[in-house]
Amino acid sequence: MRLGVHVPIAGGLLEAVARAQRLSCTTMQIFSRSPRGGPAPALSCEMAGQFDRARRSAGLEPLAVHGPYIINLASPEPAMWQQSLRLYREEYARCTALKAQYLVTHVGSPRGDAEAPAIARVAEAVSQTLESCDSDVMILLENTAGSGQGLGCRFEQLAGIRAQVRDQRRVGVCLDTAHSFAAGYAIHTAQGLQRTLEEFDRTVGLAHLKLVHLNDSKVPFEARVDRHWHIGQGHIGSEAFGRIVTHASLSHLPFILETPKSTEADDQRNLAAVRRLAAGSSAPRPRTMKRRTHAAARR
Ligand SMILES: [Zn+2]
Ligand SMILES: [Zn+2]
Repeated sequence: MRLGVHVPIAGGLLEAVARAQRLSCTTMQIFSRSPRGGPAPALSCEMAGQFDRARRSAGLEPLAVHGPYIINLASPEPAMWQQSLRLYREEYARCTALKAQYLVTHVGSPRGDAEAPAIARVAEAVSQTLESCDSDVMILLENTAGSGQGLGCRFEQLAGIRAQVRDQRRVGVCLDTAHSFAAGYAIHTAQGLQRTLEEFDRTVGLAHLKLVHLNDSKVPFEARVDRHWHIGQGHIGSEAFGRIVTHASLSHLPFILETPKSTEADDQRNLAAVRRLAAGSSAPRPRTMKRRTHAAARR
């Protein structure tokens, strides 16, 4: 399986690769800049080249870049839409320089405006961005938890955007497990997962699913709030993640964890949990349990 985490870039791009390597990742996701705004740090050809060589020799494939949150391609305000488009084009060019495979994109909020024109605005921004740059980078529309006035919590909406983009070959979808669950897709049960994937196939098409964000949910089913949690410790649960990572329609895809972390050890624990589940064992094995077993054996 191809498994990785969202890696911070605070220490620089080469440190991000080193960190992914320490965690034995086989794929990775980064921000290319601060996700909450401010000018993007300069990206020299030399730095981009060094990063690309380091990443490839570490076997980290594919590279996904998550777009900044301040972009709203669905905005009904022309000035905000233009500003978002300018930033988005800049981000797409940065992904191209970094030789990323994917730019993960939140489709934004229509701020109370109707759905159809909002979908058209996102599709137009994506089309113009793809036309602005000779690039192989694929744009992945990410499904959302459905909070507030956001767009993109229903698969039909993502399919609708993709259908209106002029160069559809460079547009796919990223599915986030925590967002799907919070938006009302019952991926926590065996039957619900099957139905969800069937619905995805009918609307978007499973061939266009390129990446999975693997996150447990701190909030219950259909809560419509985006709260990522540690794998197996949230409302989706270990059993469900075992089914997700081994499902025939998903197991070939890259999985990226965006679970909470204060240190690398948090990522280590979540990666270990996923690897156990992928190997077919769902029993958690914290160290304390092991110690107790040894003690029992000695008695
Ligand atoms: Zn995500
Ligand atoms: Zn999220």
